[in-house]
Amino acid sequence: MKKSALLFAGAELGGTKCVCILATGRDDIRKQVVIPTTRPDTTLGLIEQTLTSRWLTNSDPIAALGVASFGPLDLRPGSATYGFIRATAKPHWIDTDVRGRLGRSLPVPIGFDTDVNGAALAEHRWGDAQGLAALAYVPVGTGIGVGLIAGGRPIHGFGHPELGHLRIARLPSDTWPGSCPYHGDCVEGLASGTAIAARTGVAAGKLPYDHPVWNSVAFALGQLLHALAVSTCPRKVLLGGGVLTGQPHLLQQVRSNLKSSLNAYVNPSEADPDLIDYVALPGLGTLAGPLGTIALASGALADTEIGSAVNTCT
Ligand code: ZN
Repeated sequence: MKKSALLFAGAELGGTKCVCILATGRDDIRKQVVIPTTRPDTTLGLIEQTLTSRWLTNSDPIAALGVASFGPLDLRPGSATYGFIRATAKPHWIDTDVRGRLGRSLPVPIGFDTDVNGAALAEHRWGDAQGLAALAYVPVGTGIGVGLIAGGRPIHGFGHPELGHLRIARLPSDTWPGSCPYHGDCVEGLASGTAIAARTGVAAGKLPYDHPVWNSVAFALGQLLHALAVSTCPRKVLLGGGVLTGQPHLLQQVRSNLKSSLNAYVNPSEADPDLIDYVALPGLGTLAGPLGTIALASGALADTEIGSAVNTCT
C-alpha cells in the first residue's frame, strides 16, 4: 500500500463539541461525525463507539489515531497522568484520561496533543503555512489558545505553551480588571469571547464594529503577537476563532497594533511591512482542528516506524 493512501482516524475534543474524522489527508476526508461535549463518560463513550463499532469494523484498516484536545494537558511521557486533561475550567473534565481511554479503543499508534497544536500542524502540512518551520496558530474564541510549531514540530517542555495567559502591557487608561479566574487581565482575560461578554454584557458577535471594547481587544492581541514575534519568531501567525471571524475589522487593528508595538525593532517580513500576509486568517478554516488529528496520527505512525528502525539496528 502506498504511504499516501494510509487511512487515519482522529478525534478533536473541543469545549462544546468533538469531531471524529476518518481521512488520508486534506483531499480525502471519508467521514466526519460531530459529538456534543457533555460529561467525559458520555462523550468519550460516543467517540469510542464511532471509532470502533462504526469505523474500525466498516472501513479500510486504520493505520494510526490522532487525538487533539482542549487542555491543559499532561504531555510528559512517563508521567502518571500522561495524556490526562488537567486543571481545566470545564466542569467534570479535570483529570480525565483522554489518551489512555481512546488509545485502548484502537490498537494502533496514537498521536496526542493540544487542539491548537494539532491545528497548527494541519496548517503546516496542508494549509497556509506549508513549508514554514515556525508558525503560530491563535484562535480567539471562548478562550484564547496558541499552537506553536518550531523546527516543524509542536513546542513541548514541562507542558505546552499557554500563551493565552500571558500578562501584557495594557491599553493606556483601560483599567477593567479582566475575567481570567487565575490572572485577571491576561490576554484571555481581556480579549476572549468570555471576557468581551463579561465586560459588555453582549456576545462578541453582536457588538457593533465601532464599540470601544475592540480597542482593548485589538491592543491585547497585538501585545500577544509582539511577545510571539520576539520569542519564538514565527514565520506566519494565523489568527482565527469565532471572535475574529465574527468581527472582520479586528484583523487589521491587530496588525496595526503589532507593527506599532514592535516599533521597527524587529520586522517579521521585510517584503510585507504592513504584516498583511504575516498575520492572516487560517487557510483551512474550520477544518484545521479535525485535520490536526490526522496530522498527529500520521506523525505518530512515522515516530513508531523510526523507533522500530532504531530498535532493529541496535
Ligand atoms: Zn489567565
